[in-house]
Amino acid sequence: MPITDPVLLKIVENRLLNKLVCRKCGARNPPGAVKCRRCRSRNLRPKKKRIGVKK
Ligand SMILES: [Zn+2]
Repeated sequence: MPITDPVLLKIVENRLLNKLVCRKCGARNPPGAVKCRRCRSRNLRPKKKRIGVKK
């Protein structure tokens, strides 16, 4: 589902940027999380993915 509303896009993008993804199990964790909520691994990486920005 493509998001065309620029305001909504900004919000969604910020949420994605703030997420932490576990390198071990791939679970998404809330921003500020130290350990994975699923496997308790500390191997988390920030999710930095730009969406909907092609120009
Ligand atoms: Zn995990």
